Amino acid sequence: MASHGIENERIVRLQKIGLLLAGFELLFSAIAARGQAISPDALIRAYPDQIAGRDDTGIIFRDGTRQILSDGKTDKSFDEKLKNASLIDQLSLPYPKGALTKPPGPQDDPGRFRNIAFFDKVYGDCDKGETQKRLTDIPWFTGKVRVTTVNGVAERLRAVAMEIDRLPQDIKRHAYPSAGAFNCRVVKDTGKRSMHAYGAAIDLNTAFSDYWLWRKAGYRNRIPYEIVEIFERHGFIWGGKWGHFDTMHFEYRPEFFDPGSDEKEQHSD
Ligand SMILES: [Zn+2]
Repeated sequence: MASHGIENERIVRLQKIGLLLAGFELLFSAIAARGQAISPDALIRAYPDQIAGRDDTGIIFRDGTRQILSDGKTDKSFDEKLKNASLIDQLSLPYPKGALTKPPGPQDDPGRFRNIAFFDKVYGDCDKGETQKRLTDIPWFTGKVRVTTVNGVAERLRAVAMEIDRLPQDIKRHAYPSAGAFNCRVVKDTGKRSMHAYGAAIDLNTAFSDYWLWRKAGYRNRIPYEIVEIFERHGFIWGGKWGHFDTMHFEYRPEFFDPGSDEKEQHSD
């Protein structure tokens, strides 16, 4: 009986070690799947017209003002990061390269953590009419879209449209008519200013779009990757790579394509 007890104890101990190892494995695979956070240096390279440089704790804008990188909160939930992102939070989820091989996980939302003070500084505050002074209309296939001239966004979208126009008709038809670009509004689920409020985002043809809030059946995408690839090459991230998917949505976020944040695979643009 006594030896039985010892045997049971050993089994329990082995089970505990096994669980512990499994726990570590999960943790490490989660870290590997998330990838590395992007360096704050990527912001300086991505927004050279606005940012002059940085020190250890903040970025320095060309007008001499400074913004801190971290809000000092280390235990923020996913929801808190969505609603109140620091610059560090903004850089915490890397954007996956290439076509997706499987649907994004529920918290794979690279680019949805946005620090509003930062984007207000870069593009202006539309409630004060600042953003509007920097907008222009560009042709978008059968119509026009209103976008910002800041950071060359308008010129980049002109180039995107020209490249999409060279694709076969059954592919390029997904890109137009546009469902809108500049719009001084907030994101539905977060209540925070959308990239549309800066004139730095565009929505494609709603007839082929899927949005997580309207689609309870889970992830679906009908936008061909040929279109996505063109946008990405010009510095735009795609809402189809989000767990909270919005497949007609593209926004200019060059910090996610910084060559310095991935030594192995350099971005070509
Ligand atoms: Zn959108």
